[in-house]
Amino acid sequence: MSYRQTLDFLLYEWLQADALKERARFADHNRETFAAVLDTCERIAREKYAPFNRTVDTEEPRFDGETVILPQATYEAQRAYAASGMLSAARDYEMGGMQLPYTVEAAANSFFAMASVSIGSGLLTAGNANLLMAHGTPLQQAVFAQNEFAGRFSGTMCLSEPQAGSSLSDIATRAVPDGPNYQADPLGPRFRLRGNKMWISAGEHELTENIIHLVLAKIPGPDGKPVPGTRGISLFIVPKKLVDTSGQLTGERNDVALAGLNHKCGWRGTTNTLLNFGEGKYPVRAHQGNGGLDGAGAGAIGYLVGEPGQGLRCMFHMMNEARIGIGMAATMLGMAGYHASLDYAKHRPQGRPIGLRPNGGQNQGDGASAVGKDAARPQIRIIEHADIKRMLLAQKAYCEGSLALQLYCARLVDEQHTGAPEAADEARLLLEVLTPIAKSWPSEWCLEANSLAIQIHGGYGYTRDFPVEQYWRDNRLNMIHEGTHGIQALDLLGRKVLIEEGRGLALLADRIGSTIDRARRRPELLEFADQLEQALQQVASATRAAWASGQPGEALANAVPYMQAFGHTVLAWIWLDVALKSCGPAAGAAGQGRQLAARFFFRYELPKIAAWLNVVQSRDMTCAHFPEEAF
Ligand SMILES: Cc1cc2nc3c(=O)[nH]c(=O)nc-3n(C[C@H](O)[C@H](O)[C@H](O)COP(=O)(O)OP(=O)(O)OC[C@H]3O[C@@H](n4cnc5c(N)ncnc54)[C@H](O)[C@@H]3O)c2cc1C
Repeated sequence: MSYRQTLDFLLYEWLQADALKERARFADHNRETFAAVLDTCERIAREKYAPFNRTVDTEEPRFDGETVILPQATYEAQRAYAASGMLSAARDYEMGGMQLPYTVEAAANSFFAMASVSIGSGLLTAGNANLLMAHGTPLQQAVFAQNEFAGRFSGTMCLSEPQAGSSLSDIATRAVPDGPNYQADPLGPRFRLRGNKMWISAGEHELTENIIHLVLAKIPGPDGKPVPGTRGISLFIVPKKLVDTSGQLTGERNDVALAGLNHKCGWRGTTNTLLNFGEGKYPVRAHQGNGGLDGAGAGAIGYLVGEPGQGLRCMFHMMNEARIGIGMAATMLGMAGYHASLDYAKHRPQGRPIGLRPNGGQNQGDGASAVGKDAARPQIRIIEHADIKRMLLAQKAYCEGSLALQLYCARLVDEQHTGAPEAADEARLLLEVLTPIAKSWPSEWCLEANSLAIQIHGGYGYTRDFPVEQYWRDNRLNMIHEGTHGIQALDLLGRKVLIEEGRGLALLADRIGSTIDRARRRPELLEFADQLEQALQQVASATRAAWASGQPGEALANAVPYMQAFGHTVLAWIWLDVALKSCGPAAGAAGQGRQLAARFFFRYELPKIAAWLNVVQSRDMTCAHFPEEAF
């Protein structure tokens, strides 16, 4: 089955995405317009991305002291992406957008993630511009966001610092008003920023005319000290090059300097940077006031977005879509490995079939043939071995199941934005609960899929002559950025399942229950419906037990095993629902494949939740109480 066939099935037959055309916002769309977008993206990904995936891995970004050097292919790929209109696909027509549903946008972007995740499409730039559309002033939108949508400028998200990754309340970057008239700047209240931002993706390059950094920093209170905690964090637009109110470059370089490039395990096509803000390498507009710095124009100029102290809230506004984007990237890297290893397994001859012993297991007769050692017989292709099929089926179950989950979440985003009020509110709440899973589950299990793809290739998989080791290296990032695995788990068990007195969890249980009811009417799915009902009860009971003592330290000590069990239960639900759409002879080989992948998930994967939930249920403190000196 080609990837496109799988995608089309999930979009149209399972999710009925074409029904979105009934919504006023999408009235000009239909299945043909969706297909045209998918076709264009598939073609650009095939022509401009896939052939250069290895190039961008081996020709890592370099800094010559002046500029960052990237392969030519990156320029061409990103130019083609911007020209396709995908950066503003979901925006209004008046803004040059296509008013495309997010479901279709996410599906279309999946081709780029599969072809070359690290060349990058527009996740950061579009996320940056969308944030400004939600929280910026009309002029900030026109000057910065519009030019990002047009591909003239690109965007970054500058949250992390060397000493503050997961714990953003500890950021040390400071912002002080830039002179007495700082409020009067038409681009927004003008501040001077000083500090270091670590790990900033796409933080320096020459791919676009300008780079628009969105930077979190603290404004000192009246006592000159920063407000502690996240309440003190504000958000600023810090352009690499200053612009006027019509978006034209003024010719002034802002005081943002590349301190160094990070040399990564994978995802090497995208620069990753340590940026120094306001250290005086590029003194700028000394005459406009120095904000109490050194009087020589030091301090990067930044324009406040939204209200002071609301920086994290503004950033988190975009979190659901950003995390679905990461989940989709992890999924598609898994999918790329699945297709590569499937192809390899169909062509690699190795070993002989294990037959049945004659006479019901007595060691007589054709013994060599029975154990697969009869050299007189021709070798078989490895796809004929049961263990290889196990590894292929696991990849199929992880990656196609995860793709279905990402598209389901993307469909919830559309519901939240265009649905009737009650449905929109339910979608919002479901997204709260499902987003940590949409991000973390593929980061773990589609990475495991990549490991299985290497295994199927044997020794060849461990070399750079085949693409699968790169997929694994690229995918390894996804459990780390956009909130580590551990942080996602704390968010799920510590916050998401509790919000609105557990209404989100109850709503999810309702949706799962409705799938179970429908599956019970099909004899071939009855066994799985029962198993899923039991899993759901186990998750609910473990959630209660985790919090039974009311001690966060006990409840959250096993947050990751909880998230693993929760995620597997969600994926079992997704697979059962997909299997319901794949019943009957009309579903053909593709339908049979989905039915069997669902069976695999229920028989080989879902039973794992018992072990994960055991430690949650009993609030096991083996790890939490392990004495440091005993390591
Ligand atoms: C390639 C790459 C690209 C990135 N791009 C960007 C970007 O564009 N913009 C940006 O702002 N950042 C970016 N990041 C930063 C990324 O978001 C951080 O690396 C991440 O948030 C973790 O922070 P840290 O590296 O400081 O690790 P730490 O926060 O030090 O975490 C180390 C370990 O401790 C665990 N841990 C931390 N706190 C807790 C806790 N309270 N309870 C339990 N466990 C805990 C974590 O789960 C992790 O396993 C990027 C990172 C990488 C590697």
